[in-house]
Parts: sequence; C-alpha cells; structure tokens
Amino acid sequence: MSTHDLSHWRHQADRLSLTTRPFIDGDFVDSQGDGILTAYNPATGAVLAEVNACNAADIDRAVGAARRVFEGGSWSRCPPLQRKKVLLRFAALIEEHAEELALIQTLEMGKPITDSLSFDLAETVRCVAWYAETIDKRYDEIAPTGEDVHATISREPLGVVAAVVPWNFPLMIAAWKFAPALAMGNSVVLKPAEASSLSGLRLAALAEEAGLPAGVFNVTPGHGAVAGQALGLHRDVDALTFTGSTATGKRFMRYSSESNLKRVWLECGGKSPHIVFADCPDLDAAAQAAAAGIFTNQGEVCIAGSRLYVDEAIFDTFLPRLLEAAKAMPAGDPLDPATRMGALISAEHHAKVLDYIERGLSEGMTLHHGGRAATPVDGGWYLEPTILEGAQAAVLMREEIFGPVLGINRFTSESEAIDLANDSIYGLGAGLWTSDLARAHRVSRRLSAGLVWVNCYADGDISVPFGGMKQSGFGRDKSLHALDKYSDLKTTWMNLAYGSS
Ligand code: NAD
Repeated sequence: MSTHDLSHWRHQADRLSLTTRPFIDGDFVDSQGDGILTAYNPATGAVLAEVNACNAADIDRAVGAARRVFEGGSWSRCPPLQRKKVLLRFAALIEEHAEELALIQTLEMGKPITDSLSFDLAETVRCVAWYAETIDKRYDEIAPTGEDVHATISREPLGVVAAVVPWNFPLMIAAWKFAPALAMGNSVVLKPAEASSLSGLRLAALAEEAGLPAGVFNVTPGHGAVAGQALGLHRDVDALTFTGSTATGKRFMRYSSESNLKRVWLECGGKSPHIVFADCPDLDAAAQAAAAGIFTNQGEVCIAGSRLYVDEAIFDTFLPRLLEAAKAMPAGDPLDPATRMGALISAEHHAKVLDYIERGLSEGMTLHHGGRAATPVDGGWYLEPTILEGAQAAVLMREEIFGPVLGINRFTSESEAIDLANDSIYGLGAGLWTSDLARAHRVSRRLSAGLVWVNCYADGDISVPFGGMKQSGFGRDKSLHALDKYSDLKTTWMNLAYGSS
C-alpha cells in the first residue's frame, strides 16, 4: 500500500506520458482508419488524450499477426518452462510499474487511487503470476481403455483468442482473460473499452519488454461497434471472451453464429442481492459490507450488491448502521488516497444514474440517503452515495444501474428472502448474513448466483471461479477452470495391436 499523498499523485499525473496508438504485431502502429477515441478524466471532465481507434482493417491485421505467430509455434509450442518464465517476467514488470499503471487507470476511469493500486494492480499481478505458475504443473490424461489401446486426452491451445473488456476494472478483468489464454499457448487480441484504452496500451509495452514474441499479445483500442464487432465477426478468431453488458454479450452470440461459430464466453451484467437475516452475527460488519458492496468503485461493479433485503425484525436497528457506513464513503477526488468513492465514468452515465434516482422517487421509493450530484472537484462526474427503500417492482430494484445507488426492501421469512433474491434476470453474486450454519448452506444452495458470500461480501481470490448464471452469462474467469475455456480436448486413440510378436 502506497504512503503517497494527493500532491504526489497530482505531480505524477502532470508528468505522465501516455501511449495512444494500437499495439499490433509487436509495435505501436498508426490505425489504418481515422477514428479517434477521446479519453476523459472523470474526476475533472478534462480531456486526457486522443487515442487512435482501430477499424476492421486494423483488427484483421492484429488477428493475422496473432495467427501467424501461433502457427509458427514460438509461443504456442515453446517449452512450458520458457513460457512460464516470460509470463512471470510480465507479472514482475506490471508490479514494477504498478504505481504508473494504477495512476493511468484512475485518471481514465475515475476510481480511487488507493483501490486502483492496492486492489486492481495487486490482483492483476497475482493473476498473471498465478497462471504463469500453472504452465508447468498441468498433466494430461490416459484413458482406462484396456491393454490393446493407448488413448490420451490432452488439452491444446485454440489459436487466436479475442478479449473484449469493460472500463470498470480495465487491467484486472483484462488479465483474467489474457493470462489463462496466454498460459495455454494462445495468441491474444485485447480490445479495451472506449473509455479505458490507455492502461491497456501501457501494458502492451510491458508485454513486449517481458519477451512475448511479436503478435502474441496485441492491444487494439476502438469503438465497440467497429473494433469489437470486427473481432466478433472475424472468421479467424477461435474464441471470444467478453465482459460487459448483457446487451453486448447477446450481440457476440449473434456475431459468432453469423461468422465461424467461434466459442463465446460471457461475463455480463448483474443485480446482486444481499440478504441480512435477523440472526446476523455482526450488524456493524454487515452494514459496512452492504455499503462497500454497492459504493466501492462508485457502484460500477458487476457484482455490486445493489439490492439489499433486511429482515423486518432488525430493520430499524440495521438502518442507522447502514446510513453511518454510507456517510463514511462520500465522493472524493480519486487522486486523494483517503477517497473511497471516486467519479463516474462519463457525463452521460452520470445523467443516466441521476435519472434512475428520479424514477425511483417518482415510483414512491423513500430516500434514506444521498440522491444528488456531488462536487468534490469542479467539472467531475460525482454522485452522493444513495439509498432508497421500496417495493420489488420498482425499476431501481430490477435494472442494473451501475452506479452508487442501493435499493432496499424488507422480508419476513427465509423463503420470502430467497424468492426476492432470485426474482431477477441476472444471477451473478449474492450475499447473506446469518449465524445459522444450516441456513447458510440451505439458502446458498437455493440462490441462483454463480458467487455466494456468507457473512462477507465480494471477497475472492484468483483460485476460485468468477462468473454468473442466467443472463449474467456463462463460463468462468479465474481459477484452474478458466484454462478450459482457452483450450480444446484432443483424444488420440492408438491401436497397440500391431508390432507385437
Ligand atoms: P459494454 O457492453 O458497453 O462494453 C463492453 C465492451 O464491449 C467494450 O469493450 C465495448 O467497446 C464493447 N462493445 C460495446 N458495444 C459493442 C458492439 N456493438 N459490438 C462489439 N463490441 C461492443 O459494457 P461497459 O459499459 O463497458 O461495462 C459495463 C457492463 O459490464 C455492466 O453491465 C457490468 O455489469 C458488466 N460487467 C460484468 C462483469 C462480470 O464479470 N460479469 C464485470 C465487469 C463489468
């Protein structure tokens, strides 16, 4: 954890030099089109940089380079120990440049510098190093077929993996995809979100420095409808791994069916429930977890606990604790290390979240806290942490808002809590607080969610899978299971009957 203060980070921000061109086939190159992505600093609304956007021809070039190097075998067939060394070096370089990368992320997407450094960058380094370590530790299988046959079941890399990622955790979510894909021997084309290309481009330079052969790791910033679509429709991309909204995820399914049936892995939206039962072992801890579960990263978190269900029996005791925890997370300058909630990604998103609050109020929800824009820094896109109470039918309890807005509701029985929690098109995360072990197991089993937390919220580690059910997508990032997404099973059946004497 850094001990720097606000003036240090401001000083560093003034001295930053930003890379703004795509990284294709081992070089920073000019895009073949004239598209531009304007990068804004959400903390001030000022323009940070103009990024050269990729068009379909650039994507074709990146995929071509990725394919050529894959077929050449300098990465895909290199000895495991060698591949591991390069990825470990990549992880070490990210760690060495963690402050610079954290600063770029904070400037481009508004998250607090403390989170950016001690969470996003720490997790990114750990992810790359963890998958590097798997490379020389996995074994293939021999099937129990009898003595006349030798049947091996092996895992082979797919070829070219495209990763299309969102802006809320630009580097960490990218690493969740490129690290296992590279570990398996694939080549990668990474398309960062429009708002957050700068950190991905800085990463590309470190990949090259680590020794990844040219073409193995390409970073192609661009508009979703241009560069993202070109990757989705490309006939030489073998797998497309996506994190973003459910609406865009559905598009990638269509792109796949209209092109080459590339496999598609989707981590999409969420509207995650957080349940506090009357037998909660620690109401203060639950209140703090409920507040952090929605206000961390300004609520721009796929697993944000945006629906809170509190047992009627403890509601009046719990609410003041929750309000206290919310007050401790006011919006602040993202470069101030004390800030726990920063600025929203864009002026449009800021207006959209405010509109949701208006809609909640017009549907009769009760405002318990916040509800307005905040102005810790002039020109930035800030909101107060907001808590509204209302019925399950309210739009605010149903739609993903992706902002610091918590909807709360009450329940009177365990089965009602489960029904409310599962009443969503999404199924990403879910939390519950109880002292009853049997209830913890029982409720966890019945919750339609890929991730369930008991007596905590949003905790995790690279060793456990991450992903959702229902319209939150399918396939899992993180853990050894993610390696399966970037590899194919090969059965080799050898008849041993010949050659015996
Ligand atoms: P988004 O769907 O708008 O964009 C995600 C990526 O898709 C970006 O790179 C974008 O350029 C690209 N894209 C957009 N339109 C496209 C199109 N027509 N064709 C091809 N590509 C296109 O999402 P966002 O606003 O960047 O991120 C917010 C969403 O991401 C939220 O819904 C959030 O829940 C979700 N998310 C999910 C997870 C998870 O693990 N489940 C994690 C983080 C964010």
